Amino acid sequence: MTVDTLCVQGGWQPKKGEPRQVPVYASTTFRYETSEQMADLFDLKAPGYFYTRLANPTNDQVAKKIAALEGGVAAILTSSGQAASTFAVLNLCQAGDHVVSSAQIYGGTFNLFAVSLKKLGIDFTFVDPEASPAEIAKAFRPNTKCVFGETVANPSGVVLDIAKFAKAAHKFGVPLIVDNTFPTPVLCRPFEFGADIVTHATTKYMDGHSSQVGGCIVDSGNFDWAKYPERFALSYVKAFGKQAYIVKATAHLMRDFGSIPSPFNAFLLNLGLESLHVRIRRHAESALTIAKWLRKQPKVAWVNFAGLPDSPYHKLVKKQFKGTSPCGVMTFGIKGGRAKSIKFMDSLKVIGIVTHVADAWSCVLHPASHTHRQLTDAQLKAAGIPPDLIRFSVGLEDPQDLIADLKQALAKI
Ligand SMILES: *Cc1c(COP(=O)(O)O)cnc(C)c1O
Repeated sequence: MTVDTLCVQGGWQPKKGEPRQVPVYASTTFRYETSEQMADLFDLKAPGYFYTRLANPTNDQVAKKIAALEGGVAAILTSSGQAASTFAVLNLCQAGDHVVSSAQIYGGTFNLFAVSLKKLGIDFTFVDPEASPAEIAKAFRPNTKCVFGETVANPSGVVLDIAKFAKAAHKFGVPLIVDNTFPTPVLCRPFEFGADIVTHATTKYMDGHSSQVGGCIVDSGNFDWAKYPERFALSYVKAFGKQAYIVKATAHLMRDFGSIPSPFNAFLLNLGLESLHVRIRRHAESALTIAKWLRKQPKVAWVNFAGLPDSPYHKLVKKQFKGTSPCGVMTFGIKGGRAKSIKFMDSLKVIGIVTHVADAWSCVLHPASHTHRQLTDAQLKAAGIPPDLIRFSVGLEDPQDLIADLKQALAKI
């Protein structure tokens, strides 16, 4: 089945007389008939549900759909994208371990790695995603347990060469984890390029209607844990084979850290997934139309969008993505810097100012005056965020209406 059919029919497969839509199991707990039945669940000897902090049938049906979309063997939903990134790493690393990460990742992930996980004793080396394989190889240490990257970095738009990072990771004998939030499996399937584990903020395009915060981790089942017994604990591999990574995330991390999403949120996510293939292509096409228009405007200083034919990522986009653009998010700058950018944004009427991206409503954010407002212009430049940078998430409205809105706002500055 293709990704388009799986978006609609993956996961929940109703049998005779069962509800067509995935039911919301709004129950914290599940009943059994004998004490032994329950004991077998605790011993992981029998499959089944006993407490929703560990697993819930609604969540699992939706996770199954996302696993199918990515071409993986198993998946787990988490209560946020941040929880997915945290679990993906903690499932492999403990204090004293080390991770090689692309330096171009979502700001929340960067802070999670460089501050919070570092406080727990896990060390990170951040490498330039453009670095040569020889340079990337230098970042590895004997205690390196995994490599992390983001298919299309939020907000920089830098595209990860997945095959290059997968080769570097595998040469060293560790898995590559890729945050595939922006393209979604409709536009890019990282496992096809050698990634081993994929994470998502389902909060973004997968939900697509800004209705729930959620995350997901998918395992390809391809990494051969048993080949490196000195590096990875193998008790789960012996018992669960290709399911080991996700079973461990459930039985260990979910049990102890409890970042399970509400089954109702999983239901909302599934409604979004049913139209993901239709929506994401429209987002990507509209963004390309608008990026081409924006760059021709004399008041616009620059436009950064990997879908543009003369983007430095054009070759990589052609190789890794299905379609001309990797997502619907771009960045651009207004001539005149910070003050002009603010005036421009305040003049927009259809496009809203929102701390979000990747949903049906078009929105903009100005990192210099929002997410990074404590930084001076010099500090912003050092962080790779020009003071005039506007992040623009192109929604599902008519692109001509969006262009008209941008046009009238440009006329006001
Ligand atoms: C938003 C986002 C996250 C974090 O997701 P939350 O659901 O907000 O916790 C992680 N990675 C990327 C690429 C994101 O855009």
